[in-house]
Amino acid sequence: MTEVNNPQAASNVAIYSVYTDLELMRDIAKTCVRCDLARTRTQVVFGEGPYLPPGEIGVMLLGEAPGEDEDKQGRPFVGRSGKLLNTLLEEAGLKRDTIWVTNTNKCRPVLIDGKSVKNRAPTPPEQKACEIWWQNEIELLKPQIVVCLGATAAKKILENKNFMITKDRGKWFPGPKNTEVLVTFHPSYVMRQQGQALVEIKETVVGDFREVISRLAALRAGTAPLHPWQKPANPPDGDDGQLAMF
Ligand code: SF4
Repeated sequence: MTEVNNPQAASNVAIYSVYTDLELMRDIAKTCVRCDLARTRTQVVFGEGPYLPPGEIGVMLLGEAPGEDEDKQGRPFVGRSGKLLNTLLEEAGLKRDTIWVTNTNKCRPVLIDGKSVKNRAPTPPEQKACEIWWQNEIELLKPQIVVCLGATAAKKILENKNFMITKDRGKWFPGPKNTEVLVTFHPSYVMRQQGQALVEIKETVVGDFREVISRLAALRAGTAPLHPWQKPANPPDGDDGQLAMF
């Protein structure tokens, strides 16, 4: 059985922050025992995408946690919801192999009842234990935009327990380390819709991805309008607040 909360393992995690190498962080994360999910996982599912210098990956997708297929294969979003995610990304024109895809928890949370093993949401302590990994994925990759898939990831990254996906989806929020955050529906939730509701929610998610593409292009061109939180509180006379961001 995996030894959980091993102090030596914990210190191995702590030292990684002195490195700036994503592969090294991934390799250390793969032995992580910071929370009880280590007892039931098959393997750690670290983020996936091109290993590029900081700032070159514009977009990071942040989901909740691996499911059964991800746990087996060791890769994020490879099951049915991952296939739907790929379809929606493709329809929007966002190539998955150009972005970083990860989760707020890197191990599959499960409910075990006899022979039945079901997915569940990660608990707050499990989320807290795992935040070191996604925070440092952002630190090392420096994406301009983080797209949260679903409310669980959004509440965590925005530190907003009152976040409501029905009200706040598709809006921009200030994220950690100067990122801009947009939240859309999790593909697992999309899959649960039927009929016209399914058609509409797919269109909504594709529209959100298109908004992300458009914003990233504007950020890279230096033409992105400022969000309200980026505007100076009291612009000097004659300044309309539309200063260059960077
Ligand atoms: S869920 Fe995160 S913190 Fe918990 S054991 Fe897995 S990698 Fe470590």
